[in-house]
Amino acid sequence: MSSRWITETLHEKEGFITSYRADKVLYEENTGQQQLVIFDNSLFGRMMTLDGATQVAERDEFVYHEMMTHVPILAHGSAKKVLIIGGGDGGILRETTRHKSVEKITMVEIDPAVTDFCKTHLPMVSAGAFDDPRLDLVFEDGTIFVAQSKEQYDVIIVDSTDPIGPGAVLFEESFYRNAKARLAPGGVIVTQNGVPFLQAAELKSTMDKFRRLFTCAHCYLASIPTYVGGPMAMGWGTDDEFLTAVTVETLRHRLATAGFQTRYYTPEVHKAAFALPRYVQDCFPV
Ligand code: SAM
Repeated sequence: MSSRWITETLHEKEGFITSYRADKVLYEENTGQQQLVIFDNSLFGRMMTLDGATQVAERDEFVYHEMMTHVPILAHGSAKKVLIIGGGDGGILRETTRHKSVEKITMVEIDPAVTDFCKTHLPMVSAGAFDDPRLDLVFEDGTIFVAQSKEQYDVIIVDSTDPIGPGAVLFEESFYRNAKARLAPGGVIVTQNGVPFLQAAELKSTMDKFRRLFTCAHCYLASIPTYVGGPMAMGWGTDDEFLTAVTVETLRHRLATAGFQTRYYTPEVHKAAFALPRYVQDCFPV
């Protein structure tokens, strides 16, 4: 029987696709919000795509989820309240719950089908985190939540899809402005900002908006094999310049105090991630 191949179409209009052989398709449906496929691949394990874009792969998800979560929380140093926008697979939530100092986690996901199917078919990603008593899970468009909520958070993590489909609004200035209003003093927001080698315009657009909204607009990098095209950029916006300047020694102490092991994140990698190659620096407004 011939194999079925699942194709990532994120860069199709630029003439580039990647395909993964699906040894088993566990679920495929249009959720009403987006086209969801969950399948098994012999190299990367269980994978999920949404609207043709790779979202999570069992084998390499730890890189992205550790770097999107521990960089802002350990840089902050005393985060009690964390807001996750998107993140339906539960990977960011899993890493956030490892910080026992965090007292409240609000997760705002637009599509309950993603959470439902990931709990069932990708349980290794959330690893039980959806049962954490600190979690307040809200099924809503993240733009509406940040516009209407009165809560304030020490860390906001925007684990969105790419700016296609329902995720597009999470790259607009109005969303960033309202998200900033949800940041407590000394807070920081991080955003999934694509692979700048292929999606420079996306990073440029976010950095331009962050420059207008925050005294410190930056990004940091991590390479995730299934987010093809080189290192991925994670947007960084804060008015507290000390968060960006946190030392390796301080991070070492905080990670030791947090008391958990990581597979990618280290204090040294944290600091090095903010050292940007010239082509990424060129994504910042002059
Ligand atoms: N790590 C992945 C990446 O880098 O592309 C993202 C993973 S996660 C599955 C992305 C989540 O964002 C999905 O669950 C999707 O339903 C959610 N999402 C998309 N648009 C949203 C919106 N406007 N508000 C809240 N969640 C949204």
